[in-house]
Amino acid sequence: MSQALTVAKFGGTSVADFDAMNRSADVVLSDSSSRLVVLSAAAGVTNLLVSLAKGPEQAQRVFMLDEVRRIHHAIIERLAQPQIICDEIDRMLENITMLSEAAALATSNALTDELVSHGELMSSLLFVEILRQRGVNAQWFDIRKIMRTDDHFGRAEPDTLTLAELAGTQLKPRLDEALMVTQGFIGSEVKGRTTTLGRGGSDYTAALLGEALYASRIDIWTDVPGIYTTDPRIVPGAKRIDEITFEEAAEMATFGAKVLHPATLLPAVRNGIPVFVGSSKAPQAGGTRVCLESANPPLFRALALRRKQTLLTLHSLNMLHARGFLAEVFSILARHNISVDLITTSEVSVALTLDTTGSTSTEDNLLTQSLLTELSSLCRVEVEENLALVALIGNNLSQARGVGKEVFGVLEPFNLRLICYGASSYNLCFLVPGDDAEQVIQTLHNNLFD
Ligand code: ADP
Ligand code: ASP
Ligand code: MG
Repeated sequence: MSQALTVAKFGGTSVADFDAMNRSADVVLSDSSSRLVVLSAAAGVTNLLVSLAKGPEQAQRVFMLDEVRRIHHAIIERLAQPQIICDEIDRMLENITMLSEAAALATSNALTDELVSHGELMSSLLFVEILRQRGVNAQWFDIRKIMRTDDHFGRAEPDTLTLAELAGTQLKPRLDEALMVTQGFIGSEVKGRTTTLGRGGSDYTAALLGEALYASRIDIWTDVPGIYTTDPRIVPGAKRIDEITFEEAAEMATFGAKVLHPATLLPAVRNGIPVFVGSSKAPQAGGTRVCLESANPPLFRALALRRKQTLLTLHSLNMLHARGFLAEVFSILARHNISVDLITTSEVSVALTLDTTGSTSTEDNLLTQSLLTELSSLCRVEVEENLALVALIGNNLSQARGVGKEVFGVLEPFNLRLICYGASSYNLCFLVPGDDAEQVIQTLHNNLFD
């Protein structure tokens, strides 16, 4: 029988500096099944690289390049033998400088992905060096050799069949020889150009590799010891959920709980691979197990928040034309490659939000001028920005009695801009003004979870 395999993924804060990397190395080494490590860029680095890719003016560029250099050199300086890796990191830093100069002349999504990928390339190189200097037989693996994606730069979709095949031949045999360390978030399209899977995509990489390599567990090590009833940054008294189903966790991720990338659970569910979420700072604190079934799933499970939502309200210009109006709206949206997220309708108007699940590395705006122009030829368009989507995640929500009163009764002081309830028994969601979002979450949490 082959040895059990756990894919262990560490997020930005878990590889933020030398000490964090060493704590994460301790976590890996404490479990002999953790034979494949997937890493994010060090905390803050992806944000800096995304900003550099927008081609900022020179003074800002120099400042940001210095910051990227400082973060990585601070780690190198703490190594017992810094010279081994220093040249390689400096080569990467030179590349970053060159690419950001090119971006200042003309930016593109392909260039952005190439630039941004350096964050994960550098963190994984440094992590291997830390392990080696601790006497571990660790090897660096360039995930772009196997993570084949389409060429939708900024939010590329992996080709899972090709990944399974390439992972089987190129990565699997090496797992028996050494502790393999690779990059999350990045991939490559068929011509070999670097792509990224969207912000927060390292979780997704870990799950895809878990699927491709028949892992027995996927561990997501982050800065919180598990999945909580809501973001503990908003409600410090939020409670840890010890065990949660795939469906519930996927709903949370889709509706904005940043702790997991929205696509992470798909590969895990497809193969029934349990996912564990814990803190690399406090591994002894335990975490959340995400699995197929959990005992007594509660009516109310968690609250999630997605910010920066835009609401489009479309009013048909012609009452007589109202039949077929929705069909026309949807065909325009489909032509622009946009899927609708929340929707409510009346006889001659429809209000909807555009699906911004996950976000692109290139920070594309879905609401383009050409979409607005085309919609305006059909109907009157109203655009409201800076709204927040609050989602209550639970079980059998649409069958239970009194849910409406319990939820909305306590939200009297707030303007609820749009409500969606009934399509899914796992969620109830609504829009509120962005500035009220945290207060709405706190109020609901106090009343439904405390
Ligand atoms: P990483 O860099 O490790 O991927 P992220 O910042 O992407 O970490 O995700 C962890 C963060 O997710 C936490 O610091 C927390 O603020 C946020 N978060 C949002 N919702 C939740 C939730 N329901 N439970 C736990 N953390 C949450
Ligand atoms: N480094 C990438 C980001 O910040 C991917 C990740 O952290 O998962 O979005
Ligand atoms: Mg993340």
